[in-house]
Amino acid sequence: MLGHAPYLRRARRRAFGKSVTASYKPPYMSSQQTDPEHIAISKSRGIEIDWKDGHHSSYGVEYLRDYCPCATCAGSHGTEPRPKRSLGQNAAPANPFQMYKAKDRMVDIEPVGQYALKIVWNDGHSAGIYSYDHLRHICPCPECRAKAAV
Ligand SMILES: [Zn+2]
Ligand SMILES: [Zn+2]
Repeated sequence: MLGHAPYLRRARRRAFGKSVTASYKPPYMSSQQTDPEHIAISKSRGIEIDWKDGHHSSYGVEYLRDYCPCATCAGSHGTEPRPKRSLGQNAAPANPFQMYKAKDRMVDIEPVGQYALKIVWNDGHSAGIYSYDHLRHICPCPECRAKAAV
């Protein structure tokens, strides 16, 4: 009986997503920057996030699809990265006039613990877990893109 206690205690602590994910935070990001204050989700238009540090991010649907962080799309494990169609000459979000091909749509978005959103796409893809760290990191606003390019 007593022998079980340490294991159970450890398992319970892991259930608090915050403390587990904190170790993944890049050192240059404060938790204010990666904690969403408010999230507005539109399956057809994308996701908007107000961060606790006052920053605002607006992610188009296609942009989010391009930045799917799963191993397949990101090109980990030796696979080819998925081409990022929304990255044009100047890395601006996709031109709305050129995207009437197979349009990406979000079918479902669900929160994963306190630290991420899982997006299910209309092509059936659902492996991407978009952590708030990742989302803040890929913020498409000119200010953040300029920083990322350094
Ligand atoms: Zn993916
Ligand atoms: Zn930004």
